[in-house]
Amino acid sequence: MRSRWNDAETRALEELDRLVYASRLIGAETSLVVWGGGNTSIKTSERDHRNRPVGVLRVKGSGSDLKSIQRKDFPGVRMEDIRALLDRQDMDDQEMVSYLARALQEPGGPRPSIETLLHGFLDAKSVVHTHADAIVSLTNNDRAADTLEGVYGKDVIALDYRRPGFRISREVADAIAARPDARALVLAKHGTITWGPTVREAYEATIELITRAEAAIAERKTGRRVFGGPRVPILPPTRRSTMDPRSPSSSRRWTRRMFHWSGRPRPTTRSTPSACPASWASIAPTIPPPSRARSSEASATSSVTTPPTSMPTGIRASS
Ligand SMILES: [Zn+2]
Repeated sequence: MRSRWNDAETRALEELDRLVYASRLIGAETSLVVWGGGNTSIKTSERDHRNRPVGVLRVKGSGSDLKSIQRKDFPGVRMEDIRALLDRQDMDDQEMVSYLARALQEPGGPRPSIETLLHGFLDAKSVVHTHADAIVSLTNNDRAADTLEGVYGKDVIALDYRRPGFRISREVADAIAARPDARALVLAKHGTITWGPTVREAYEATIELITRAEAAIAERKTGRRVFGGPRVPILPPTRRSTMDPRSPSSSRRWTRRMFHWSGRPRPTTRSTPSACPASWASIAPTIPPPSRARSSEASATSSVTTPPTSMPTGIRASS
């Protein structure tokens, strides 16, 4: 996924306007969020109704759409009230919504996202959360943890799916606190959480995370890599030897289908195991030009494979 950030467009913007800018970039990527999905935030310093300085989380309002979001769609939630919830182990949705409504900088303003605490419980200046298709593709199976570790290694935290609400916010905060070196967090069957000291860094971290996921998916499609290790257990060596046609203990034998230069295939079963040639190219240079006498010998013994004197149109031997 390509970063769409343009420094020239953001240089003169205020902090909240940069968040609006980044949010619209994310909203424009339908593989990251669909209408109303995902959310973004920054932590700022503002003044309260008594003109006292207060830390405030500006987070996407519930029901707004990232691709067309505006400044007014980011309600401010006082950080002191959010941090007080870190003492709690759980909280139901209704209580959480009521609590956050009382912590707003502008009472009666837009309701903050149901995922507000995902943002507020983290120390980072800016946080981006998406519901990326690529993450759902990687984790919509029963081996999500293995898959994510295979794709991201150890620098990305992976958590199992849990519905949005207080508990997942708490788990995310605890997981990141325990892994301060982590660069991002992935929620299985849900999406991404990235953060940074600036809005741009949080945005770029999302792009990098998705790019890595897309590359892994592309590799899987071409068959070069299988997520989560082999699904079929690898046989022990003693068992494998009985399955290998080249092994003396094998009960199997190659059946070689060789093509006579004059046209008709002549299947021949060898009495002893033998490795097959890798390709025509690997044997063709060693074979002398065909003659009628040699072809008779070849068909009689079935031990020498002779290339056709002419290839059908469109077929070329590789070199
Ligand atoms: Zn979410």
